[in-house]
Amino acid sequence: MATNNSADNLKIAVVGSTGRMGQMLVREVMSREGCVLSGATDRKGSDFIGRDAGEVAGLGACGVIIQDDPAPVIAEADVVIDFTRPEATEEHLRLAAQAGCAFVGGTTGLNDAQKHAIELAARHIPVVFAANMSVGVTLLSALTKKIAQVLDDDYDIEIVEMHHRHKVDAPSGTALLLGQSAAEGRGVIHDDVKQAVRDGHTGPRPKGEIGYATLRGGDVIGDHTVIFAGEGERIEVTHKASSRHIYASGAVRAAFWTKGCKNGVYDMADVLGLSD
Ligand code: NAD
Repeated sequence: MATNNSADNLKIAVVGSTGRMGQMLVREVMSREGCVLSGATDRKGSDFIGRDAGEVAGLGACGVIIQDDPAPVIAEADVVIDFTRPEATEEHLRLAAQAGCAFVGGTTGLNDAQKHAIELAARHIPVVFAANMSVGVTLLSALTKKIAQVLDDDYDIEIVEMHHRHKVDAPSGTALLLGQSAAEGRGVIHDDVKQAVRDGHTGPRPKGEIGYATLRGGDVIGDHTVIFAGEGERIEVTHKASSRHIYASGAVRAAFWTKGCKNGVYDMADVLGLSD
């Protein structure tokens, strides 16, 4: 565990620090060299307010007490990491912009106004936002785009995903992100070629379609395969998540990346140096 509190350490605050991802992030920040957990919050009324963030995350006391007022916690930090709820993320973005604190966000389900809050904050601070912070999925997405650029529509694109039985939406946000990358690579509009439902007498497969197949069951965290099926060959690229740790690890990597970064909106492809 990193215990060195040197002034050079990146000060990272975790908001929503008692959630599934919040606890994972606290553990990740506490375990990494070169950074320190400078503060932690959770929603007002949470039973965890006043408790030690390290203890709640299962790593033992670290001296950081969970607060319910995010303003001073964000003001104290170099970077704030937010995997919470859309309304909370909107407020955290505003506070980070006021405080000049860089922002790394992974909260999903933002509405248009909340997405606009990202743009507004990014006028004052660097903001890294990604619906999937995993390094592996970001690579898969970049590879998918590249392959789609090279192959023409003689190759049929199909995306297969599997998740645990509790997942409520389909196809997954990540599957759609991969489909969008494929569409971009091919130079077409995703919504024009997306085919997420096939049932009954569908007729032959239209050329250029991007098809989705959704599997649900058990405790699968997230498997995604992009298939390019041509005459005489098939290319398949796959990512399988076996731990949610990959999202926390990607988020902390993004937090380090914001050091010295210009104000603006970035995603994980920027963090990994994969952007065009
Ligand atoms: P969770 O419900 O376990 O945790 C959310 C936490 O946010 C809770 O502790 C809750 O009390 C806290 N919270 C809510 N309102 C708050 C407020 N106003 N101030 C401070 N804290 C507040 O959920 P989770 O599984 O940890 O997921 C959180 C979000 O992250 C979801 O939107 C999820 O879809 C997203 N997520 C994104 C990625 C990615 O890679 N981008 C990966 C996993 C999860």
